[in-house]
Amino acid sequence: MRNFAYEAARMPGDAVMAVAQDTGARFIAGGTTLVDLMRVNVEAPSKLVDINGLPLKGITALPGGGVRIGALARMSEVAEHPLVVQGFPAVSQALLASASPQLRNKASIGGNLLQRTRCPYFRDLALPCNKREPGTGCSAIGGENKMQAVLGTSDSCIATYAGDMAVAMVALDAVVRVRGPRGDRTVNLVDLHVVPGDTPQRETVLAPEDLILAVDLPAAPHAARSHYLKVRDRASYEFAVTSAATGLDVQGGRIRAARVALGGVGTKPWRSPEAEALLVGQAPTREAFGAAAQAALRGARGYSQNAFKIPLAQRTLIRALELAAGGPA
Ligand SMILES: Cc1cc2nc3c(=O)[nH]c(=O)nc-3n(C[C@H](O)[C@H](O)[C@H](O)COP(=O)(O)OP(=O)(O)OC[C@H]3O[C@@H](n4cnc5c(N)ncnc54)[C@H](O)[C@@H]3O)c2cc1C
Ligand code: SF4
Repeated sequence: MRNFAYEAARMPGDAVMAVAQDTGARFIAGGTTLVDLMRVNVEAPSKLVDINGLPLKGITALPGGGVRIGALARMSEVAEHPLVVQGFPAVSQALLASASPQLRNKASIGGNLLQRTRCPYFRDLALPCNKREPGTGCSAIGGENKMQAVLGTSDSCIATYAGDMAVAMVALDAVVRVRGPRGDRTVNLVDLHVVPGDTPQRETVLAPEDLILAVDLPAAPHAARSHYLKVRDRASYEFAVTSAATGLDVQGGRIRAARVALGGVGTKPWRSPEAEALLVGQAPTREAFGAAAQAALRGARGYSQNAFKIPLAQRTLIRALELAAGGPA
């Protein structure tokens, strides 16, 4: 471990300025991603700006039935909160399917959105990785790539976005509230993460000094009928091989609104407007769900060990649509 400075921020503006004034500084919340990466020297901040004392822990109702989740609310609190369980079940289910109870008690919502990739080469300083050290190459493309992405990849990087909650939130039109040195702004969560292209070291549209204040979830009938389904190699404490977040508003035997997002397969939380457009106006049948699943994976590219993810993601999505519709179609 290298030496670093430590500062506990009292107000959001102070935290933003502390990071803006030191290019090596980083916010720390639960530390379950950042400290891990510091231990293996992938991250080496000059200063940690502790944001745990900031007043960003609340989970509050918004006018119209939505919910605002403070960036420092813990994963476990959000998973169990009645406003989330009733209005946004996919978010609660995604959180409960994440990590372990101990980690969920420690880890924050802002930190969860900004967790780094679990690509093993990213954490291994002995091997090339364009995300960790731009221009060195990608060890995963010709190496171990069973867990890597099949959507949004590039010749520079094929790392999967590993988180669960962001997949559910992306499907439900979440909006991220951000404070930067020039004031506050909002970013649609679907636009927060970016595909790697030829700059895989850049993972989001945020600058290092941009502080996430909260995430807003707007209420909608399809949000209240949403579902998150995670397929993984063991029943707990494991990242997704594939996952799907779905939301359906079915009235009079027809789908009035549909939401579809995929996890475990994209380089970012992967929303599929193509699948959603195919579902609207259809009866909620297995045939309609199958067509949507085909559309959602149409641009997918499998690598030497992970082409199985394409049909598996389709089946995951069909099942998640069935569950959002209230059972097998
Ligand atoms: C063994 C293990 C298993 C796991 N399994 C899963 C899983 O199955 N599914 C899943 O989704 N996740 C999983 N995780 C990841 C875990 O959910 C994240 O590590 C956690 O949510 C990060 O939150 P944190 O508060 O600890 O973030 P930190 O480690 O404190 O911060 C992470 C990053 O976010 C930045 N940051 C934190 N808060 C803010 C903010 N408010 N504004 C701007 N930047 C901020 C930090 O600077 C840092 O870069 C697992 C982690 C471990 C260690
Ligand atoms: S997939 Fe991305 S993170 Fe993994 S080795 Fe390649 S460049 Fe690095």
